[in-house]
Amino acid sequence: MTPRRIHVVGAGLAGLSAAVRLASRGLAVIVHEATNQAGGRCRSYYDSTLGMEIDNGNHLVLSGNKAALSYLDLIDARAGLGAPPSASFPFIDLATGERWTVRANDGFVPWWILDPARRVPGARLREYLALAKLLRAKAGATIGETISCSGPLYARLIEPLLMSALNTEPRSGSAALAAAIVRETLAAGGRNYRPLIAHNGLSNVFIAPALRYIADHGGSVNYGRRLRQLALGAGRVTALDFGDASIPVTSSDAVVLAVPPTAAESLVPELLTPTEFRAIVNAHFRIDPPRGLAPMIGVVNGLAQWLFAFPGRLSVTISAADDLLDLSREDLASRIWSEVAVIANLADAMPAWQIVRERRATFAALPREEAKRPATETAWENLVLAGDWTRTGLPATIEGAIRSGAKAAERLAPL
Ligand SMILES: Cc1cc2nc3c(=O)[nH]c(=O)nc-3n(C[C@H](O)[C@H](O)[C@H](O)COP(=O)(O)OP(=O)(O)OC[C@H]3O[C@@H](n4cnc5c(N)ncnc54)[C@H](O)[C@@H]3O)c2cc1C
Repeated sequence: MTPRRIHVVGAGLAGLSAAVRLASRGLAVIVHEATNQAGGRCRSYYDSTLGMEIDNGNHLVLSGNKAALSYLDLIDARAGLGAPPSASFPFIDLATGERWTVRANDGFVPWWILDPARRVPGARLREYLALAKLLRAKAGATIGETISCSGPLYARLIEPLLMSALNTEPRSGSAALAAAIVRETLAAGGRNYRPLIAHNGLSNVFIAPALRYIADHGGSVNYGRRLRQLALGAGRVTALDFGDASIPVTSSDAVVLAVPPTAAESLVPELLTPTEFRAIVNAHFRIDPPRGLAPMIGVVNGLAQWLFAFPGRLSVTISAADDLLDLSREDLASRIWSEVAVIANLADAMPAWQIVRERRATFAALPREEAKRPATETAWENLVLAGDWTRTGLPATIEGAIRSGAKAAERLAPL
């Protein structure tokens, strides 16, 4: 039976994705968010040191991320993502100073790997062909057990791409998760991996339009509401306990729990969740990007992994950055700036900067963590789970989070 009223707990992308889908089907949606803002790990905020709005982390989606694009279509926000004409990835090797651009062709047959002007310098054809092994990876295998993690193609394209997609050192990463990325993007033709960036901030594209959509469809979002306990009885959730208030969950209500794994584990009895995480470090510098600088540049043999050019700001992303958490912020900023100056050909002294360290940015995409991800359904008939850490078949990404929310909505109110 389709419930009449649905409580969505957590206003990250997974919760918002569930909420907009449910609202679009005419259901009464109430979102409860612990903090005073929506967006969770994918949001913008005003940074007083830089004097501008920045994102908590540079985020990228790919044009083959169908769930993310369908969510943006529903909330009428796709136009906020850049629309590059092709799948083009400029790189620099800081050890040699070499620069190159990987330029994939749009179609399914990847003839770009035969063209020296488009492929990775020094990579051989057989290195590209060997990647097919990833698609036939054994269950529970690591990437290192499945493909050769050496050679120019690996060092100059595959490692940087997988490091950011998995937020885990690729050799130990789950081959199944890497295969899912490759299947939906790299193996599906260049039109499926054009890099899409929210140049004017994540919240303007992914969050604010969703909140408007929920309000326009009669839903509401309550902030400062941390769920403390789920009252459970007779196979159902019967109440939501927020500490200062308890909200009854009647026989015609249902709950989408879209909180991070540590919170979910403490709320749902005997729930198995991933418990190992990886950090992401972002460095932001207040400076106008030089004219003609690409929106995103991959970096090999540096501390920086990707450089993003935003209006009035250059930003660096470093994934699987746990080793950097103990370095001082000043040390990190100056080391990263010295690389940015080379990449962007700048002679300026280090401008105003900010370092943002997300210690638990995503769960570690290891085979043993992948095995702990729970399904959408729970043992309680009116309780479903959503979140990038649930069993989406993808690493912890925007696409995975949005897909998980859409799946939760589908379970409660099938079309
Ligand atoms: C720095 C960084 C960079 C990233 N880069 C990329 C990228 O380039 N591409 C990409 O695809 N993905 C990227 N990701 C991953 C992406 O941001 C996440 O996968 C996605 O945002 C997760 O959404 P979620 O809704 O599952 O979880 P969250 O965003 O964590 O949302 C959970 C929400 O629940 C709330 N909450 C917690 N406990 C309670 C409670 N008890 N009661 C009520 N509310 C509660 C939280 O406050 C939060 O708002 C990045 C992540 C980070 C941190």
